[in-house]
Amino acid sequence: MGILEGKTVLVAGVTMNTSIGYRVAELAAEQGATVLVSNFGRALSLTRRIVKRLDPEPPVIELDVTNDEHLAGLADQLRQHVDHLDGVVHSIAFANPETALGGKFLTTPAEDVKTAIHVSAYSLVSLAMACRPLMGRGGSIVGLTFDARQSWPHYDWMGVAKSALESSSRYLARYLGPDGIRSNVVAAGPLETIAKKAIPGAQDFNDIWGTRAPLGWDERDLDPTAKGVVALLSDWLPATSGEMLHVDGGLHSTGA
Ligand code: NAP
Repeated sequence: MGILEGKTVLVAGVTMNTSIGYRVAELAAEQGATVLVSNFGRALSLTRRIVKRLDPEPPVIELDVTNDEHLAGLADQLRQHVDHLDGVVHSIAFANPETALGGKFLTTPAEDVKTAIHVSAYSLVSLAMACRPLMGRGGSIVGLTFDARQSWPHYDWMGVAKSALESSSRYLARYLGPDGIRSNVVAAGPLETIAKKAIPGAQDFNDIWGTRAPLGWDERDLDPTAKGVVALLSDWLPATSGEMLHVDGGLHSTGA
């Protein structure tokens, strides 16, 4: 019996089989969950194609986290497939690679900062609230971050957005805790996804992890990160909320 047996989980942010969300969806289903996935815009057709590889094939819901109508209609969309939700995975981020990433930190226009924070941080709260009508005690919200307690080369305003995401998760833990709903983030090491490829200079992270992660790190292996997410969705961390779980080969614990 899997650790998510009987649970229903929405994974928001699946575009390719390289997406962290894809492996989370796959593993959650292997662990017994009924899974739904979402994505937005032109990539929806890619999502619909790629989820055909999953067994069973999950329903795909259109959700642009910056679209108020999508958010307002999300609970009804979900109810067409399930009667409640136990888990919500936020696997979403965006910042303009031309202006907000790759060393442009000091000159990024406010509008692009706003977009990065709206899509990558505020959306954790708007997604949680859109799903809230279907969630009850034992519910779990999980976001994905790149440990933003310190600065990184190239990461710039996405780093600031991730700080806001991590803080937003702690506030969700505060406000939803009395209803029995947990909120946590997984701080993953660098993984070869579309989001990472969009960051100019992000290949440097592979060298940093290659020399500093005590356990070593395989940037093509989504499994450790997906397992961390699934563990947080399960009932095996029932008193853990507002936490950042590092899945980074131990790098965060080293000074140099
Ligand atoms: P990914 O496959 O590109 O996933 C990011 C997802 O966000 C995509 O499905 C993207 O859709 C979606 N998205 C962007 N804007 C959206 C919007 N307005 N509404 C709804 N969805 C939107 O890359 P990933 O690396 O798996 O990223 C998943 C999460 O892990 C992100 O939060 C990322 O920051 C985090 N993370 C990644 C790494 C890494 O090294 N890859 C490390 C730590 C944390 P489109 O494809 O249509 O744009």
